[in-house]
Amino acid sequence: MKQESKEYDFIIVGSGIGGLMSAVLLAMADYSVLVLEKNHQIGGSLQVFSRDKVIFDTGVHYIGSLDKGETLNKLFKYVGILDDLKMKRLDNDCFDAIRLSDGTIFKHAQSYEGFRSGLKEHFPQEEKAIDLFLSKVEWICKEFPLYNLEVERGFSYIDKPEVLSQSAYEFVTSLTENKQLQAVLLGNGLLYAGEVKTSPMYVVALILNSYLKGSYRMENGGSQIAKLLTKRLRLLGGKVLKHKEVVDAVYKNGEIESVVTCDGFLFRAKNFISNMHPLKTVEVFGEENFRPAYRNRLKKLENTVSSFMVYFSLKKESFPYINHNIYAYSKDEVWETVNYSDTEWPEALFICTSATVNQGEFADSLSVMAYMDYEEVKEWEHTFSTVKDPSERGESYLEFKKRKEELVIKRLEEMFPGFRSSIKNVYSSTPLTYKDYIGTKDGSLYGIKKDYNQIMQSKINTRTRVPNLFLTGQNLVFHGILGASIGAMVNVFCFIDDNELINKIKTVYEK
Ligand SMILES: Cc1cc2nc3c(=O)[nH]c(=O)nc-3n(C[C@H](O)[C@H](O)[C@H](O)COP(=O)(O)OP(=O)(O)OC[C@H]3O[C@@H](n4cnc5c(N)ncnc54)[C@H](O)[C@@H]3O)c2cc1C
Repeated sequence: MKQESKEYDFIIVGSGIGGLMSAVLLAMADYSVLVLEKNHQIGGSLQVFSRDKVIFDTGVHYIGSLDKGETLNKLFKYVGILDDLKMKRLDNDCFDAIRLSDGTIFKHAQSYEGFRSGLKEHFPQEEKAIDLFLSKVEWICKEFPLYNLEVERGFSYIDKPEVLSQSAYEFVTSLTENKQLQAVLLGNGLLYAGEVKTSPMYVVALILNSYLKGSYRMENGGSQIAKLLTKRLRLLGGKVLKHKEVVDAVYKNGEIESVVTCDGFLFRAKNFISNMHPLKTVEVFGEENFRPAYRNRLKKLENTVSSFMVYFSLKKESFPYINHNIYAYSKDEVWETVNYSDTEWPEALFICTSATVNQGEFADSLSVMAYMDYEEVKEWEHTFSTVKDPSERGESYLEFKKRKEELVIKRLEEMFPGFRSSIKNVYSSTPLTYKDYIGTKDGSLYGIKKDYNQIMQSKINTRTRVPNLFLTGQNLVFHGILGASIGAMVNVFCFIDDNELINKIKTVYEK
């Protein structure tokens, strides 16, 4: 086996936002860091691909909390990437449009005041329900100190059932009997795979609040975040190696000494951080090294549903650029669309035109996401295909995709008559694509499902039973670029004083 002579302070497995953010924060604290990534492209869900000279995002379409002074804005400033990010702010009076089954469109505006007054215009009789909803969102967000860049002292998940264990659906339906308003308040549920029986209100609050505080598209794709973080890491002496799938670990006296990559290399470090799904982490680092209770708990946890993505390249000047996202439903019980019926699919669509640098009046692409259960593609799960290891999944798989693409186009035609004539080419991805690229078992959209009925079970700690193995990424606190970045902070607090780091972030911002 080939071995690199250097022993790093940290080896990070996976270059998703969580992995890269942990890497840069540690490198800024003078630790030596190596990131090992299995793919050809860094970034995990920040990866993009290009067809017909158009760049498509695969897993990040808009990011919140990016207005000046907001948490992610400050964090990006601290790690030194904010000034180089090319981003486009979505419309102030409408970052998300919720289109219900009868074609009525409701706007979610940025800022609490904008959101409140926009909805009150639509629902003048429902002022109280709208106010109560927003007060709850605001109150919950204040209960998460780190989310507001404050030190978490004495915060305990067990002590706060009123924050963590409230059902979002029950809360919203207790506020109003107006079905349309219920649907509109929960209307961007595809952002967190909102589900009647499981989704906690705190997830809705943390995510909605972030978008109220500055919603932006990344011009020419979200991969710029990963590229800028990698550049920063290299300047700090760190290293990112691609095509390095970690497949095994070598232990000495109960601690990990090195990891083994698929090409037979051995890399040594004092500490290891996994950006992989926790269950995958246990698999790669050896089941026998974790408590049976921990393994069983992870195995029992459900993941969020996966998705079918359709990517359209568009004919020149044939379709307008839309500076907001559209959530379109063919049934108004919007949170029941996760458990869709085959005959009604697609019941819920997320639709966006991507932004380019110097974005003009017309869009050059349109991306659409619909829920898709892994079971739908299970018959092809023996296949594997990525840019690094390309292969064919077969004719029947292509036919399956074509059939699904056509159903999506039909829905788009209802919304944008004549849309078909704007299409240059159609591409699509399935849960298998996410499984192969990200390494999750079922191509899950957002990792482990948060369930208000069993909050403690779905809580994942950054520390593991193995003394020098830690976790980072979307499964620690919540998903999304903001959530996984906060997860990275929780992770590095094991090595860097939290008070000191938070003060530094605030100081850099104020300069
Ligand atoms: C379709 C879709 C749409 C989304 N839309 C948005 C959005 O609009 N806004 C938003 O904020 N969030 C969005 N999200 C969520 C967001 O993208 C994720 O929550 C976040 O990017 C996850 O980051 P992470 O750090 O957990 O790592 P991930 O992105 O999951 O990356 C994990 C990394 O680990 C690597 N890896 C796995 N196994 C190994 C191994 N054995 N060896 C080496 N490397 C390995 C993978 O290749 C990958 O690079 C979306 C997600 C999806 C899937």
